[in-house]
Amino acid sequence: MTIPTTASASASEPLIVADSITVAYGPEPVIIDVDLTIEPGDLIGIVGPSGSGKSTLLKALLGGIEPRTGAVARRKGLTVGFVPQVEKIDWNFPVTVAECVGMARAHGWRTPWISKSERAEITDVLDRLGLHDLGNRHIRDLSGGQQQRVFLARALFTGAEVIFLDEPTSGLDVKTRHEVLHLLGDLNEEGVTIVLSTHDLNGIATHLPTIVCLNKRVIGAGSPEDVLVPDVLEQTYGSPMQILEHGGMRVVVDGGPNSSVLPFRRAAGDGVAP
Ligand code: ADP
Ligand code: MG
Repeated sequence: MTIPTTASASASEPLIVADSITVAYGPEPVIIDVDLTIEPGDLIGIVGPSGSGKSTLLKALLGGIEPRTGAVARRKGLTVGFVPQVEKIDWNFPVTVAECVGMARAHGWRTPWISKSERAEITDVLDRLGLHDLGNRHIRDLSGGQQQRVFLARALFTGAEVIFLDEPTSGLDVKTRHEVLHLLGDLNEEGVTIVLSTHDLNGIATHLPTIVCLNKRVIGAGSPEDVLVPDVLEQTYGSPMQILEHGGMRVVVDGGPNSSVLPFRRAAGDGVAP
């Protein structure tokens, strides 16, 4: 498989620039004044609580929704791929893994129209993502992690230079989450730019080189060391959090040092009325 590169443009030219964008579905904006630059080779996680505007920001960067004010500029000819949240997909759609990947190119709707060379490419992509034995399997009969990889395969098959993933590990178990993270890391090392959204600070965000904390506005952006600090987290999540160090990694724990323990964990006789 040919891994897409950005060789056609100057390596320093940003791929996507959001310039002070405000996005609204109704009267109230859901993201406000967001600036974000995506450079070739980036691996960026957009983090924030549910409803903070992560999916909306991805949509705006992809061009699926026009900002009310501000603008999104994409490098000319840029190919982008989108991996949706697997829980939101209707898996009863009757296609196999190979067909699902083949359909990612507009003309290759069904198996008979997939050319020999395309089939070889599909096999390569499936191999690359550890799906080689599953080409003829119905997409419904895959695990969550495998379904996730089918969508990555689709994005790679279209030659995407930037891949957006919305909550790529929600609903996955710990082992599968690690596999997905490693796979994303490998693809990134091979030159694919990756932007994902996640609400999972410890499982995902702390492992990424760059984090953007979003709560309608960008509260902080930078490395985990710069961004995972009490002020930024409290403004992002709306409640105090503690940061611990564990094996050189940041671990974010709910609640500040003085936050109360929930009633079902209070020991008997600790003076709290039942
Ligand atoms: P997140 O992905 O961080 O959970 P979203 O971008 O999905 O946040 O949503 C941000 C806000 O926009 C929420 O208040 C949500 O209810 C609202 N919203 C999202 N999509 C739509 C839509 N299609 N129409 C109206 N409101 C929407
Ligand atoms: Mg979302």
